[in-house]
Amino acid sequence: MTKIPMQPADSSPAVDTRINPSNSNSEQGAMQANSKTNLLGMSQAQLGEFFKQLGEKPFRATQVMKWIYQHGVTDFEQMTNLSKGLRDKLTQQACVEPPEVVHKEFSDDGTRKWVFKVAGGSLVETVLIPADDSKVNGRKTLCISSQVGCALDCSFCSTGKQGFERDLTAAEIIGQLWVANASYMQDTDNAEWQNEVTNVVMMGMGEPLLNYKPVVASMSLMLSDHAYGLSKRRVTLSTSGVVPKMYDLYKDIDVALAISLHAPNDELRNELVPINKKYPLSELITAAKAYVHDNNPRHKKHVTIEYVMLAGVNDSDEHAHQLVALLEDLPSKINLIPFNPFPHAPYERSSNNRIHAFSNILNNAGFVCTIRQTRGDDIDAACGQLVGQVADRTRRSAKWQQSIQQRQQQQLADQD
Ligand code: SAH
Ligand code: SF4
Repeated sequence: MTKIPMQPADSSPAVDTRINPSNSNSEQGAMQANSKTNLLGMSQAQLGEFFKQLGEKPFRATQVMKWIYQHGVTDFEQMTNLSKGLRDKLTQQACVEPPEVVHKEFSDDGTRKWVFKVAGGSLVETVLIPADDSKVNGRKTLCISSQVGCALDCSFCSTGKQGFERDLTAAEIIGQLWVANASYMQDTDNAEWQNEVTNVVMMGMGEPLLNYKPVVASMSLMLSDHAYGLSKRRVTLSTSGVVPKMYDLYKDIDVALAISLHAPNDELRNELVPINKKYPLSELITAAKAYVHDNNPRHKKHVTIEYVMLAGVNDSDEHAHQLVALLEDLPSKINLIPFNPFPHAPYERSSNNRIHAFSNILNNAGFVCTIRQTRGDDIDAACGQLVGQVADRTRRSAKWQQSIQQRQQQQLADQD
């Protein structure tokens, strides 16, 4: 593991104007930063409107988007196809400000983690995971956070145990991708800017469908040819099952969908993924089918089903058979995720033998089933380990601490 100390803001202007800008985000962290308008995270339409108000033509929007997202330029003076007058105006009135990086770590397996301090002081995390074969130009997947904490309290998730503080803004969401790409120049010997990230998954902290507009705006920039131009199959939104928003999603944007299922029946899912009490499996599967089968010519071929493997809880042969029956009519690929433990978690990871036996049942029933390789263990960068630091507005972390204390007292009493 390599821990990389952050440099003081003025030690290396070429790097720091990009990575650790001196301006801090406003309290809302929205488009205003220190009374300047933060252009990061603005859609093409919003930028067009901004330039219109400056008395400029809307095509300036695409020019500026290319500078920001394809060349990593945040200093308007370097945007050489803009007139000097416009560059001066932008310098006075606008900025391009990603969230502040306070810590970063590189794992021996190539995984990288960034910790951001967002407006309000909370910490959120982003992880870059290279494909196993580690080819120089191979797949590099960035796992992005959408909220500070999460209100949904899934029983096996450390983010859920911290409670919820606030939604991230579009600037803070797309800023995570921007910073990860900046790392190519900053942390390697490369002199040229290159967008290194090939795939994005909205699988960091938070429930993306509960922060709908900024998430969709950010994913639009990921897909836009004027920004990152990623293929729609390489941008994945993962949800625990916010059913009404799933219906909105396929009308608004064409991305891959992953569903955090984790249990094949309502009784168990109510326990593991409490939002199931509001939107039970029948409604969730119907919404997933609509996402796959919609008549839109842009239709998706399958959804990815995520299933965390918890020893003795959801990993029996019977559970696998129930899963086969549940997913019978839903074109899906199943991804089994070995549980990533966190301090005081009430679960253990299923054994490798159990995971393979479970996977065999799914394979034999005709499903494509993969077992997620846990990466970045040495820097706590695996799924469900994106801990961050959340000023809990739901008082969940206090309740969690209380339940840990009760469990410890019970264990002591049992020993007596
Ligand atoms: N809120 C969204 C996206 C973030 S969670 C969702 O729930 O889908 C990303 C994935 O990590 C989800 O599939 C989630 O269930 C899984 N996850 C959370 N905690 C985990 C843990 N401790 N071990 C393994 N996977 C975990
Ligand atoms: Fe929230 Fe997803 Fe964690 Fe559940 S698994 S608590 S929805 S981040």
